[in-house]
Amino acid sequence: MDSLLLHICCGPCATVAVPAWRERGLEPAGWFHNPNIQPAAEAERRLESLRRYGRAAGLELVVEDRSPASASWDAWLSGLAEASPEERCPVCLGLRLDAAAAAAARLGFARFSTTLSVSPWQRHDLIRAAGEAAAAAHAVAFVYLDLREVYRESYTESRRLDLYRQPYCGCAASKWESWHQRAARRRARAAVVAAGQSADGRLEPPEDDQRSHGSRGEGQTSRGSRGKGQTSRGAPAEGP
Ligand code: SF4
Repeated sequence: MDSLLLHICCGPCATVAVPAWRERGLEPAGWFHNPNIQPAAEAERRLESLRRYGRAAGLELVVEDRSPASASWDAWLSGLAEASPEERCPVCLGLRLDAAAAAAARLGFARFSTTLSVSPWQRHDLIRAAGEAAAAAHAVAFVYLDLREVYRESYTESRRLDLYRQPYCGCAASKWESWHQRAARRRARAAVVAAGQSADGRLEPPEDDQRSHGSRGEGQTSRGSRGKGQTSRGAPAEGP
């Protein structure tokens, strides 16, 4: 069977991406390199979840997250506090996929892909653009596979394998935004209940589905720009 290097963001996304590639006749080697995840304990938790999935699925894993941070990541980090999703996400995706392409070339893979394409919360146009630019820079092929249709299946597999599901995309800014979005939903539901109406379940999706996974958090435009009433971090201006 042919192979590809698969950049993996987390265990839950791997549960649907790995079988999808195998069904298409390509055996993935999982590659975990996500310096965007903050804090370090969160990155360890996600990696542990991936290792657990890797053992269950017989997936070869290559972990390079402990490599020294580059000047490019330092620059991304230094601007994170004030950066909008439109500013920070393309850089974050570009750095990760460029590193994946470099690893694919170094390790002898002809092609690479990423589990980021599982998430409906990510900007897929940015993923494709970043993957193709990285592929051209390192003389390997980037293979895009839209797996948003099987995103919900990752819930079932995560529960079956008792995998940790993260409640935010990765960086500290996304954690902040997700927290505010959940708080806003709780306030909205409480207001409905206080007004004597029954909560019909549509106001608040399951807790698992509330993570802001990328640049398309609730309250933002489809391009991830700041919505009205949001701070430069994309969070609502009003506190909980
Ligand atoms: S929201 Fe996600 S994709 Fe965007 S910068 Fe933060 S970690 Fe990266």
